[in-house]
Amino acid sequence: MAPPAIVVEAFRKTYGEVEAVAGIDFTVAEGEIFGLLGPNGAGKTTTLECLEGLRTPTEGTLRVRGIDPAREPGRLRDAIGVQLQTSGLPDTMRVDEAMRFFCAYHGVAPRFDLLERLGLQAKLRAQYGTLSTGQQRRLALALALAHEPPVVFLDEPTAGLDVGTRAELHALVGELRERGVALILATHDMAEAEKLADRVAILLGGRIVASGTPKALTAAAVDLTRVTVRSERATLQGRTAPLPGVQRQAREDGYEVYFSDAIGPTVAAVLRALEEADDPLVDLRVERPSLEERFLELTSAGGAQ
Ligand code: ATP
Repeated sequence: MAPPAIVVEAFRKTYGEVEAVAGIDFTVAEGEIFGLLGPNGAGKTTTLECLEGLRTPTEGTLRVRGIDPAREPGRLRDAIGVQLQTSGLPDTMRVDEAMRFFCAYHGVAPRFDLLERLGLQAKLRAQYGTLSTGQQRRLALALALAHEPPVVFLDEPTAGLDVGTRAELHALVGELRERGVALILATHDMAEAEKLADRVAILLGGRIVASGTPKALTAAAVDLTRVTVRSERATLQGRTAPLPGVQRQAREDGYEVYFSDAIGPTVAAVLRALEEADDPLVDLRVERPSLEERFLELTSAGGAQ
């Protein structure tokens, strides 16, 4: 088996008194999309910046394709693609110049096709400072991917992007996975992580409080499945007999809401009760707990797993 593309072992980073990362471990394989999730200040950016060679870890081991980012910046340069933050380019630099400049730096031909895919074809001659925030983010993404690096770091990649560009980014991430790229996606957008990441780690106060596939994490949630029901005559409202599987019950905007640990029996009993009351069903929804709910559960529990 190929060694992991990214290795993080007993990694700790302090800024003076502040312990930004308190000793974390994870690996990312080739062709794997790894979501680093956490609220503001959790330590995501610090972790990425140390992997990118921009900061030095206080303790621990970091490797990117076998390279120590703090000691071998020259070798690291071609191995990684980083989506720079908005301040990364001079305001007067044109979009096409930025692409030429970045590609010359890496010794590859400019990738104007990527600019086109990200909807920047009409902006090739525009100066960076005149671009909208979303356009600046799209350019940063194109520049991160232009030299086809085997390892990519994206920090909040879709913040400020419109729906169309977001979809294009998702398609691009899928292609990177196919090509065997190892990608870390740092985000607090849980829906996005759930959609894109093969595995996620939830970082809280500099520690990993949960990790695994998005599916495994949500399955581990203690949250119950929501079954929401509305019927023409609302006969369920007056019902006192308990329904199977229902642990909690509430009423929201004319809907009966059942929190169930056994969806099948609950839904069957609801339908039976309505049929017996000759009360036609208007709406029925079954919602599984999302990664976001799991995240909120962990963060509100103070990080205990
Ligand atoms: P966000 O989602 O807000 O970007 P984050 O998860 O990326 O958050 P970091 O930026 O890594 O978190 O910050 C982790 C902690 O380290 C925070 O408490 C932050 O205030 C602190 N920190 C980050 N950079 C520095 C610095 N240069 N000097 C001092 N403290 C810092």
